[in-house]
Amino acid sequence: MALNCPKCQTELVRRYYKGILEVDSCPACRGMWLDFEELDHLEDLSFDQDDFKGSLVHYPDKTSCCCPHCGGPLTEFQYRLYSLKLDACLTEKHGFWLDYGEDVRVLELMDRHKDHYERKISAEAEWMQFLEKIKTGSFLNNFRDFFK
Ligand SMILES: [Zn+2]
Ligand SMILES: [Zn+2]
Repeated sequence: MALNCPKCQTELVRRYYKGILEVDSCPACRGMWLDFEELDHLEDLSFDQDDFKGSLVHYPDKTSCCCPHCGGPLTEFQYRLYSLKLDACLTEKHGFWLDYGEDVRVLELMDRHKDHYERKISAEAEWMQFLEKIKTGSFLNNFRDFFK
């Protein structure tokens, strides 16, 4: 069955995105449809620590666009609390619609997320080293020396 673009009704064509993900893209408006788990795969190209991504859907709001699979209304939502809005078939979990350029935004946001995550991890590592120092007494010894 042919799928139609939820935005401009043009028939979608299958293509490979970055040679990895199989997506349905619109030759007219250049948006693309990702199956439900493919958004996660797209994010993973930048950042793959799923536990630290935060929740995906915020402020969902029904739109008048239709899911190419079931024809049900797509829900617009704020993507992971960033200033990016995506559309999805959330009722049937068919997938996500990304307008032209929104895939790049997703990857940028995941890159930023990854930076935060790595900074947090290295801060935690420093904290652990600090605790280790206290445990071994070198920290307290230094203090004692200080108050002599
Ligand atoms: Zn289109
Ligand atoms: Zn659907």
